[in-house]
Amino acid sequence: MYQSLLQDASFFALLLRIDEDLAAKTRAAGCPCGGSLHSARYRRKPRGGPASLGRDFALRASFCCALEGCRRRATPPSVRFLGRKVFFGLWVVLLPVLREGPSAQRLSRLEERFSVSRRTLLRWQRWWRETFPASRFWQAARGLWVQPVATEALPGSLLAAFASPESPGEQVLAVLQWLAPLSSRSWV
Ligand SMILES: [Zn+2]
Repeated sequence: MYQSLLQDASFFALLLRIDEDLAAKTRAAGCPCGGSLHSARYRRKPRGGPASLGRDFALRASFCCALEGCRRRATPPSVRFLGRKVFFGLWVVLLPVLREGPSAQRLSRLEERFSVSRRTLLRWQRWWRETFPASRFWQAARGLWVQPVATEALPGSLLAAFASPESPGEQVLAVLQWLAPLSSRSWV
């Protein structure tokens, strides 16, 4: 059920719209110094997602304070990107789950089907099990869960924590929105 989201162009379009809203909010808030923010967006080379994605999907919103002497940079949260990961965040969340979820798929099958190397898949798994649980982001959030989220079962346990009666899309979206601040500052 998650598998179809990985290459769902309309789901990606939704993520882009959410990112545009997040960027507009960051811009409207302005710089802490009181200066206004100018666009300083840049191009990334994200991997994953449907082949049909337009150039907009690779643009990362970012802003720069207009005041001489400040020039502070503000990068809004994002549901498309996950920190500095090259692949779209959606892939970094879902591919490890496909490998270990209820209908687990073999590494070789995921490698072949999604053109993601075994090395990358294993690296993501390590990131979820070692780097992410040690991050300030996770440390700050872990006490807030009503039901504890098992770090040794990440990211599947995170997905389960956002279980939605609506649809797998709503559930995954909730996870990506929860993770979005990870991309705006150095939390990891
Ligand atoms: Zn400023």
